[in-house]
Amino acid sequence: MSHPQIRISAVSVFPVRIAARAVHSHGIGDINTSTNVILRLDTDAGITGWGEAAPWAVFTGSPEASFAALDIHLRPLLLGADPFRIQALLTAADRTIVHCTEAKAAMEMALFDIVGKALGTPVCNLLGGRVRDEIPLSFSIANPDLAQDIDLVSQLCAEGIRLFKVKTGFAEHAEDLRRLARLREILPADAEIRVDYNQGMQPWEAIRRLRDIEQFRPTFIEQPVPADQRAALAAITAALDTPVMADESVFTPADALLVAGQHMADLISIKIQKCGGMLRAREISAIAAAGGLACYGGDMFETGIACTAGAHLIAATPNISLGCEFYQPNYYLTEDLLAQPFPVRNGRVQVPTAPGLGIEVDEDRLRRYAI
Ligand code: MG
Repeated sequence: MSHPQIRISAVSVFPVRIAARAVHSHGIGDINTSTNVILRLDTDAGITGWGEAAPWAVFTGSPEASFAALDIHLRPLLLGADPFRIQALLTAADRTIVHCTEAKAAMEMALFDIVGKALGTPVCNLLGGRVRDEIPLSFSIANPDLAQDIDLVSQLCAEGIRLFKVKTGFAEHAEDLRRLARLREILPADAEIRVDYNQGMQPWEAIRRLRDIEQFRPTFIEQPVPADQRAALAAITAALDTPVMADESVFTPADALLVAGQHMADLISIKIQKCGGMLRAREISAIAAAGGLACYGGDMFETGIACTAGAHLIAATPNISLGCEFYQPNYYLTEDLLAQPFPVRNGRVQVPTAPGLGIEVDEDRLRRYAI
């Protein structure tokens, strides 16, 4: 036997709702609470693994679908299973229920958490080992009341954060230009502005307006047009000097192959909630690397549980080189589910070194936010 014989003995699924500190507006909609589904896997060895599905109905899918996928469809696969057979369980999950990538991501991170704890090593070591110990953190400027974000930006700069992603496309173009001008004014010279439209533009208007945006020297412009408007995305990428990032246009490795192969974007935002876990995220990163596209560590409205899985993924994946946006646990949710604060120091996420995901879930808080 190559590893300790462990079986999954219980599957617990907790839908939770946590309020946010402010409304965040995106091209495709507003959000002010996170409704996520937490997964707890217990084993007969006394080891517990944690996972999280963080859906958004207008982006990846609904919380109800994540809950049903885990509670009804995936539970029978997991009960009695060997948690070391992560790939086999993921393959079986894809044959059991289509889509529901958030639920599959939750399942995969809970399995990795168990395996890491059983072997006494952090999850990043199961993905090839770390190539970086910390990850630059990006904060999203998405409050429709810019004045509130401006106050926050000064605080974040003092804490060492230098990456700011401005959500655009939910108001008038002229208003986006005013917001960007104001931010450039107050940000230190070494701070980066990045721009994310969340599909908020029509293809016909995009190129001319994005040329206006380029004057603010954004590091990249993310997902200007709707996910399925890939020809328009390619035209924008060809027309602009500023690198263009695909987010909603790339959920799967096949999407990545299309976008990288035809150079429809310069960059890809990888999210384990979109693709269904860390292993599939690595496939997307590999395809992107082969096409010369660098990747960014995106996320959904996740607590520290899912953000920690993202941190292990990025720690072990050289091509996810543009930082991460795991700001929700400390700066967006009113409270996180981790017993210890999600580790950010000098504007950088610190990759945990303890076995498994390296987190402790506050179960009182979990019960308090359960719905
Ligand atoms: Mg995005």
